Amino acid sequence: MELNDRQKRILEITKEKGPITGEHIADHLNLTRATLRPDLTILTMAGFLDARPRVGYYYTGKPQSKLIADHINKMTVKDYQSIPVVIQEQSSAYDAICAMFLEDVGTLFVIDQQGVLTGALSRKDLLRASIGNQDLNAIPVSVIMSRMPNLTVCKSDDLVIDVAKLLIERQIDGLPVVKDTSNGIEVIGRITKTNVTKAFVEVAEGDMD
Ligand code: ADP
Repeated sequence: MELNDRQKRILEITKEKGPITGEHIADHLNLTRATLRPDLTILTMAGFLDARPRVGYYYTGKPQSKLIADHINKMTVKDYQSIPVVIQEQSSAYDAICAMFLEDVGTLFVIDQQGVLTGALSRKDLLRASIGNQDLNAIPVSVIMSRMPNLTVCKSDDLVIDVAKLLIERQIDGLPVVKDTSNGIEVIGRITKTNVTKAFVEVAEGDMD
């Protein structure tokens, strides 16, 4: 919620002089009580102000919803990312399936011999490759993966909320966390729907340090 200039002035006055009556706030602003009434109602309903009968308005601090939003908008990927599971491009689809089971992940990131990120491989990519009687040992992951430059990636300093929006928008389960090196882009982590869900639970439990 964006406050207008008059609402901000009202908050300053109540912070400094509260508890203060509506009339007195109006006097400070050279306005009538009636002109001010809608602003006082908005500020009270949003939780910035509280009103006590016969005492007046006083400042309560930021409303809880604003504190939560502020906290969420500061959460960065580095505090929630997990270790990435990577596989070489020339590995087979069969190897990729084994890696997914062994490492218990739903997405593998594919790298070349220099360790540069070249692709992402999801469960559905492997299911698609398994339709028909193809030899999964003979299919390299490079043939069935989604590849750069079409991958959606993020950096450690990015905001979790922006990653969450990308996961929804692009309909994918996770993003590689990358860094630029002289060779190209390297994978240093992964952030998935599970990580974002954990962040969400943490906020709900009030663990906002
Ligand atoms: P699932 O296999 O469960 O549907 P996803 O929804 O993550 O898993 O994957 C859907 C498609 O998006 C797959 O073809 C996969 O290769 C691709 N994909 C997965 N992660 C990314 C990413 N970070 N950027 C671009 N494409 C991706």
